[in-house]
Amino acid sequence: MRVLVVGGAGYIGSHTVYELIKDHQEVIILDNLSSGYMELVHPEATFYQGDIRNKADVIRVFAKEEIDVVMHFAAKIVVPESVKEPLEYYYNNVEGVRVLLEVMKEFNVKKIVFSSTAAVYGEASGICHEDDPTVPINPYGETKLATEKMIKWVSNAYGFNYVIFRYFNVAGADQSLKIGLMKDQLTHLIPVAIQGIIGLRDHLMIFGDDYPTKDGTCIRDYIHVSDLAYAHVLGAHYLVNGGTSETMNLGSNAGFTVREVAEAVNAIAPLKVVMGPRRDGDPAELVASNDKAKRILNWSPKYNLKDIVQSDYLYRKKISYK
Ligand code: UDP
Repeated sequence: MRVLVVGGAGYIGSHTVYELIKDHQEVIILDNLSSGYMELVHPEATFYQGDIRNKADVIRVFAKEEIDVVMHFAAKIVVPESVKEPLEYYYNNVEGVRVLLEVMKEFNVKKIVFSSTAAVYGEASGICHEDDPTVPINPYGETKLATEKMIKWVSNAYGFNYVIFRYFNVAGADQSLKIGLMKDQLTHLIPVAIQGIIGLRDHLMIFGDDYPTKDGTCIRDYIHVSDLAYAHVLGAHYLVNGGTSETMNLGSNAGFTVREVAEAVNAIAPLKVVMGPRRDGDPAELVASNDKAKRILNWSPKYNLKDIVQSDYLYRKKISYK
């Protein structure tokens, strides 16, 4: 397969490129490097710098390369930023994909694997199934849901086939430690906690311990980035082999509390934890049902929470000593 990975210089995009190349696929990357890094670009991939909101940038790639499947990772993903700058989020996340789809249609490339998010479920608490109501509570989730719908209508009108993946809490790093979540992008629980054990942060603050969960802290579903990335390889094969359009959760079917994550990190090295107030917009529990991805793609995660935490630890240690 020849796969165009839009956003292939970012965290999840670069891991997907690594999995595609391990699977002996040909990879073309288009990335504007706004939050990606050249050092995350796999040396065997063909790289184009460009912005999908600029149609000429996209045409340049499609005119030069034969493409079987497109994958899209080039989104802005910071929830509080999306609340402050909704227009920027709609412009980047929705308009960018609209232009991409337009060029795909013009070049008769009609298969897309699209990265969406558990944020489309909004305040839903508990196990999320793909046909649950989608009621996002922030512009980030809204832009992903709007784009999901755009892809569905485009598929209906022009005969595209898509796989939409809704990600849960992604963390960890490739086993090679060549790529991972870079250090200036840290707000998520696992990398923040890891910083607390390698001397880059004094402590982890737990945002609220009065939720209706077993230990009062929020429950999330953590998924290793390489497991998530590999699902995209399976999704691309599925489409190329004639699979019909589907939306699937990517998670582990299991939830862990913030305290349990802190304990897993503390098992590597001592982590100081302090209690803080709730953070706005955090649902008590968000766990994926991954039965659909198992059934359709025969996908299931290989790595557990301990592996995820350990790989992020090794990567963060490596980049902090550079
Ligand atoms: N969290 C925390 N302290 C931190 C970062 C996150 O207690 O420094 C909590 C957060 O409130 C949520 C969970 O960890 O309950 C996962 O948050 P994260 O930002 O990693 O992902 P989200 O689920 O918001 O996408």
